[in-house]
Amino acid sequence: MTQSFKKVHAITGMKDVLPDSSAQWEQLEHTVRQWLAAYGYRNMRTPVLEHTRLFTRGIGEVTDIVEKEMYSFTDALNNEQLTMRPEFTAGIVRATIENNILYDRPQRVYAMGPVFRHEKPQRGRYRQFHQIDVEALGFVGPDIDAELIVMLGRLWKILGLQHIRLELNSLGQAAERAAHRDALIAYLEQNKAVLDEEALRRMYTNPLRVLDTKNPAMQEMANNAPRLFDFLGAESLAHFDGVRRRLDDAGIAYSLNPRLVRGLDYYNLTVFEWVTDQLGAQGTVCGGGRYDGLIELLGGKPAPAVGFAIGMERLLDLCSQSQEPQAAPECQVYMIHQSDAAQRQASQLAEQLRDAGLTVIVHAGSSGFKSQFKRADASGAVAAVILGGDELASGTASVKWLRAPAHEGQEQQQTIPQGHLVTELKKRV
Ligand code: ATP
Ligand code: MG
Repeated sequence: MTQSFKKVHAITGMKDVLPDSSAQWEQLEHTVRQWLAAYGYRNMRTPVLEHTRLFTRGIGEVTDIVEKEMYSFTDALNNEQLTMRPEFTAGIVRATIENNILYDRPQRVYAMGPVFRHEKPQRGRYRQFHQIDVEALGFVGPDIDAELIVMLGRLWKILGLQHIRLELNSLGQAAERAAHRDALIAYLEQNKAVLDEEALRRMYTNPLRVLDTKNPAMQEMANNAPRLFDFLGAESLAHFDGVRRRLDDAGIAYSLNPRLVRGLDYYNLTVFEWVTDQLGAQGTVCGGGRYDGLIELLGGKPAPAVGFAIGMERLLDLCSQSQEPQAAPECQVYMIHQSDAAQRQASQLAEQLRDAGLTVIVHAGSSGFKSQFKRADASGAVAAVILGGDELASGTASVKWLRAPAHEGQEQQQTIPQGHLVTELKKRV
């Protein structure tokens, strides 16, 4: 006796991509790979699971991600503390160190795939989401910082996006941040009354993070806080100027946002975000910056680096606002048949059509012509190829054009010798 089974649902905040909408994903992935190849970036794939300490060390203990968003668990089989990656950079840096790939030259790499954060699900915020992550490892900049930003400008152009703007800041170097930190803590102490619980908890451990707050009641306090930017020395300013000049050369507009600090600890010097007003509250499509200390922090030989991550769900949402997404056709040719013998012949012909590069579905099972035609139409195929009793007897096939542009003098339905099928279909598919 089968026991009753309680239906299983997807985990909250984790979405399925169904066949009708996956075309939009595949199109974007394809575009992204070509765009990255044009700048010499190569794909890198790291595991979804990493040791928890990689992220606590890499991202920083006092950050939203590490404090409350990670999917961490003990692997009971060997008692290891593991975490589903909440971002790509730490894993890419670990792999870079472990495989010594910066040994003889810097590397331009990218990764694409799911990341996991236990956040409150809403539009543009999920628990499994996807990132396009791009890292330039071993480059000091500022040329490469600018290259990354200019690259992103090109991607928006390729995708036809207009309502997306760039915000830029510099976080300087460790010594400058330390000087600012003292001033900031003093300021936060004077403004304790408006700080929320999280801010009070972080004001001594990670005061800069307090400025990254989304709490509306703290915005004015944050806007008036001492600016890290005002503590930058000549070298940091020169680096920032180098980035800005190159953005000007490329005609990339930006606004300076002294409050932009990013949600992870590892950044220094250049930080940036691309934001839009078209997606409601979750308007940051891409965030990135320089992280010259991270490779050393994670045990590698010191090397500078800079990178960014794009949120794919938000990007796709933005894309579908400028262009209605369309489901991809299932095939170019749909084959209809009327008997067991015709089905077998159709399967053989279909292999020949596939040899010629066509995509083909052979109707599965036996059903009436009418319902097979309905399926053919719903598949989005350009042509239906029909093998009935007459066709089988005479070695022909009937082609019914479902969507092909009308050619002068060509019927919407024609019967042709099976040997001519490839040539005829190739003319119009
Ligand atoms: P936010 O301020 O929106 O929380 P973040 O600073 O945490 O973003 P990053 O860690 O910089 O985001 O991640 C890079 C990009 O990934 C973001 O710009 C955004 O487009 C996307 N992203 C971040 N969190 C989520 C999420 N929970 N669901 C979907 N996309 C996300
Ligand atoms: Mg976040």
